[in-house]
Amino acid sequence: MAVRIRLAKPCALLMCALSLHTSLSAQSDKTALHSESELLKEQIEQARKRGEMTHAETLTNQFHQLAIHENSTSSLADAYYEQARNAMERNLYEPALEQLNEAINLYQAQDDQTGLAKSYRQLGLTYRYQSNYPQALEYIYLAMQISQQQDNTPAVASTYNSIGLVLEKMGVYEGAAQAHQSALELHNQLNDKDGIASDLYNLADLRRVMGDDQLALTYFQDALKIDIQSGGKKYIAYSHNKIGYQLTILGDYKKAREHLTEALSLFTEIEAPRDTDWALTSMATLEMKEGHYLNAREILNGVILRAKEQDYKSLLVDAYRASAELAILAEDANLALTHINAGSEQAKNNNEPHDEALFEALRVNVYLKKDEFKQAFNALLKQKTLDDELLNTTRIETIATLQSQTEFVRRAQQIRLLEKEKALNQATLEQAQWNRTVWLASIIIAVIMLTLLYGRFSQRRLNKRLSEEVALRTQELNQKNVELQAAYQEMEAISLTDKLTGIHNRRFLENHIESDLEKSQRVYNDWRNGKSPSPHHADVVIYMIDMDHFKHVNDKHGHSAGDEVLKQLTQRLALVFRQSDYVVRWGGEEFVGVARFIDRSDAPLLAQRLLDEVSATPFTLTDGITSLHTCSIGYVCYPTLLQHEQSTDWQTLIALADNCLYQAKNSGRNAWVGIECINEPIPNLVELCTKHFDSAVKSKRITVMTSIK
Ligand code: GH3
Ligand code: MG
Ligand code: MG
Repeated sequence: MAVRIRLAKPCALLMCALSLHTSLSAQSDKTALHSESELLKEQIEQARKRGEMTHAETLTNQFHQLAIHENSTSSLADAYYEQARNAMERNLYEPALEQLNEAINLYQAQDDQTGLAKSYRQLGLTYRYQSNYPQALEYIYLAMQISQQQDNTPAVASTYNSIGLVLEKMGVYEGAAQAHQSALELHNQLNDKDGIASDLYNLADLRRVMGDDQLALTYFQDALKIDIQSGGKKYIAYSHNKIGYQLTILGDYKKAREHLTEALSLFTEIEAPRDTDWALTSMATLEMKEGHYLNAREILNGVILRAKEQDYKSLLVDAYRASAELAILAEDANLALTHINAGSEQAKNNNEPHDEALFEALRVNVYLKKDEFKQAFNALLKQKTLDDELLNTTRIETIATLQSQTEFVRRAQQIRLLEKEKALNQATLEQAQWNRTVWLASIIIAVIMLTLLYGRFSQRRLNKRLSEEVALRTQELNQKNVELQAAYQEMEAISLTDKLTGIHNRRFLENHIESDLEKSQRVYNDWRNGKSPSPHHADVVIYMIDMDHFKHVNDKHGHSAGDEVLKQLTQRLALVFRQSDYVVRWGGEEFVGVARFIDRSDAPLLAQRLLDEVSATPFTLTDGITSLHTCSIGYVCYPTLLQHEQSTDWQTLIALADNCLYQAKNSGRNAWVGIECINEPIPNLVELCTKHFDSAVKSKRITVMTSIK
C-alpha cells in the first residue's frame, strides 16, 4: 500500500522576495549566495514534484556545493535533508536514514528547531516504510512536539498526516481517522489545496480498509481532481492507482485498466520502483478479476521476487495476499496455503495484525473448498482472536497516543503558566519588600512621633507581621521553584540532547545504534555466505572515554571549572570523530563515541588520536587558569565474531568497552585498550572479560590491542 506524505509548503512569497533580491546587482555577495540557495531549494522541490528525480538530484548536488562554498552549516543541513528526501522518493530508505541523521546533527548544532522537526518527521516516515511503527511514532511525535511549540500550523498539519499513516498501518483506524481529520481541518484553514488532496486521499484509504468502497472511490476521485490541478506527478499516480483498484473491486474493469495503466506509466517515469511494483499488484488483481490468471501470476511472481530482494516489507504482504487470492481462484490450494503462511508470517513480523487476520480469512476459504472443516474452523477461531486483540489494542493505542500528545501540550502549557506565576510572585515579593521598607520608614517616623507624643508604641508587632508576610511569599516562591524544576526535569527526560555540552545523550544512542549494528552484520553475512567480497568499511567501533582523575579538577578548581573541561573535551572529541559518527555524553565525565563503518584496523589509530587530542594541550578553566589532563579509553569492534554470525546486543558491547576502559585505568591511565575481535563463540562474553581478561587474551580466545607497553 503506498501513501502520500505532506511536506510543509515552501513560502512562495519569501521565494519571490528572495529571487527579486538576486536581481539587484548592488547586493553583497553573501545575500546573493543566500538567495541562490533559497532559489535552488525551491527548484529542487519543484523538480521532485514533477517527478524529475535526476534533475532534482543534480540540483541538490549543486546546492550541497554551494553550502560548502558558503561555509554555512544551516545550508549544509538543508542539503542533507534534501538528499534524504530524494532518496525517499526513490524508495531508498537506508541512505535516507543516514542523510537525515547528518541533517539532524547539523540542525541540532544550530538549534534550528524547524529543521529538526521536519527531519524527525521524515525519519519517522523512513521507519514507517521499514515497518518499525513504534520507532516511527516516537520520531513523529517528537516532530509534533516541536511544531506545536513553535505554533507552526503547516508543519502541525503535515505531522498529523504522518501520524495518521503510521496508525493506519498499525490497524489503529479510529486514531488514524482522527489524525487525518485534524490534518484536513488545518489544511482547510490554511487553504492548502495539496494538503486537502492528500488528506482526502488518506481518508479514502481508511474508508476502503473499512469496506466502504463507493465512498472511498468518490474521495479518491476528488483528490485526483485537485492533484491534476496542482500537477504533482507522484500524487496523480497515487490517485490513479487507488481509483483503478477501487474500480476493479466495484467491477468496472475497463475504466480500472485506464487508471492503472496511467499510474504505472507515471511511476515508471518518476523512477519509483516500489511504487511501480505496488501498482503492478493492483494490475494483477485486475487481471485476476478478468479471468487472466496466467498474466496475473506472472506479474505477482515478479513483484514478490523484487519485494523480497529489496525488503519492501509491506508491499510483500499485499503481494502475498493477492497471490493467495489468485491461487484460490486457480484452485491451487497448495500454493494458496504456502503464500498465506508466508504472508501471515510477514504481516506478523511487520506488526500488521489487521493483515494477519485477513490471511486467516483466506485460509478459512481454502479449507472450506477442500471440505476440511476442522482446519477451517481453527483458522476462523484464529481470525476471531486476532480481530479481538486488534480491537483491544486499537482502543488502548488510540487512547495512549492521544494521551501522550495531550500530555505534552499540557506540560508545555504548565511550564509557561508556572513561569508566569513565578515572575508574578517575584514581583509581589519585591513589592512586599519595598512596602516593608517604606512602611518601616513611616513606622520609624510614626514611632518617633508617637514616642514623642505617647512614649509608647509597639513597632515590633507590625514589623513581625510584615516579616511573616514576606516569609510566606518566599515559601510560596520556593514551592513554585520546586514545581518548575520538576517540570523541567520531565522535559529533559524526553529530550535527546545533553544540556551541559549540547551533544546528544544516551537516549539518542539507544535509538540509533541498533540499525548500525544490523547493517554491519548484514555486510558480514553477505561475505560469509559468499555473496560479496571481504567487508570493507563495515565495522562499527564503540569507544568509551573517561577523564582521568576528574574528581581532582572539581576538588581543586570547583565544579564549574570541571564543567568547562567537559565542554572543551566535547569539542576535542568532535575533532577526531567524523561528522557522521556519534559522540554522546554517556553520563558524568564519560563519553561514548561510535565510529561508524570504518575498518577495525584503523581503530587503534583513532584511539591514540583521541588520547593525544586530550593530553597535548592544556584545558582552560573558568578563572583563566589552564591545566593539562588525560583520559583513558576502552573500545570494542563490531561484529565481535568474524567467521560466524553472533548477534551481540549493544548493551553487551558497552559492557565490553567499559571493561577495556577499566583495564586502561588499571594500567596507570592515559592509555587505551580495545577488543579487536573474539575468535570463537563465547556464551558469557562479559563475564569472561570481567573475570578472566588476561587469560582470555593469553589463550587467544579474544584478540586485544592496547597502547600499554
Ligand atoms: P578515574 O581516573 O578513576 O576515572 O578518576 P575520576 O576522579 O575521574 O573518577 P570517578 O569516575 O570516580 O569520578 C568522576 C567525577 O566526575 C565525580 C564527579 O564529581 C565528576 N563529575 C561527574 N559529572 C560531572 C559534571 O557534570 N560536572 C562536573 N564538574 N563534574 C562532574
Ligand atoms: Mg567515571
Ligand atoms: Mg574518570
